[in-house]
Amino acid sequence: MNAQLEGKVAIVTGGASGIGRATALLFAQEGARVVVADIDGPGAEATAAQIDAVRPGAALAVRADVSSPDDCRRVVESATGTFGGLHVLFNNAGIIRRTTALDLDVEEWDRVMAVNVRSVFLMCKYAVPAMTEGGSIVNTGSGWGLKGGGNALSYCASKAAVVNMTRALAIDHARAGIRVNSVNPGDTDTPMLRDEARQLGEDWTAFASDAADRPMGRAGTPEEIARAVLFLAGDASSYVTGSALVVDGGGLA
Ligand code: NAD
Repeated sequence: MNAQLEGKVAIVTGGASGIGRATALLFAQEGARVVVADIDGPGAEATAAQIDAVRPGAALAVRADVSSPDDCRRVVESATGTFGGLHVLFNNAGIIRRTTALDLDVEEWDRVMAVNVRSVFLMCKYAVPAMTEGGSIVNTGSGWGLKGGGNALSYCASKAAVVNMTRALAIDHARAGIRVNSVNPGDTDTPMLRDEARQLGEDWTAFASDAADRPMGRAGTPEEIARAVLFLAGDASSYVTGSALVVDGGGLA
């Protein structure tokens, strides 16, 4: 089979870790040149170095805070300036605060909404005009964007917003040849999942066992989510737009 993203230029936000890193590596393996954007500069550099080791010149690391309009504009300009275009945008950077409304500070609410929701608006605002040959945008929602979850008020609100923003973006930009979909992972073994256990003061083994409590009996891997993102990013999904793809081992079922 031909490489699925041959000749394409992609941006991956949150590319320093977890699902973002796995997806950046898979995109590159499938022929894309990749801008790895993350607030964690050294982490982004490390992902880019992993790509470079196999395909020299195919990756660019950019330190950026996706809640900042200037940084989002700079990320898009890096893609077009360095690689000459833009075809794929994976809006994946995200944070979680595991608290109820009672323990959540207003500042924490604002930060979760800025990183998880405002970022999608900002990145699309600058990326859509750069996708002059059409393109594919994939936004990371969550199972908790499609149903509620405990001790995660701001996160649930933010991910529901991502799922419905995705539909609105899909409608607005379909005629420009730009498809927009969300990927909605269930519990996936990344640093974020381990941080959730820490925030809740729970032992990792017990937390991981709860995460595995779903029909398939295990949490997902970042690579499994990356393969679903690749499907949405490439031409295999050429008639798919506005959809919410659930990748969760049957959890929501
Ligand atoms: P992760 O913590 O491993 O990676 C998230 C990355 O986002 C990190 O590299 C972090 O530095 C980056 N980031 C955070 N704030 C940023 C900012 N302001 N600007 C730029 N980059 C920023 O987590 P992950 O599990 O790989 O999460 C990736 C996405 O998947 C997130 O949107 C998350 O909400 C979503 N998700 C994760 C799970 C899960 O179980 N791991 C489940 C559903 C959805």
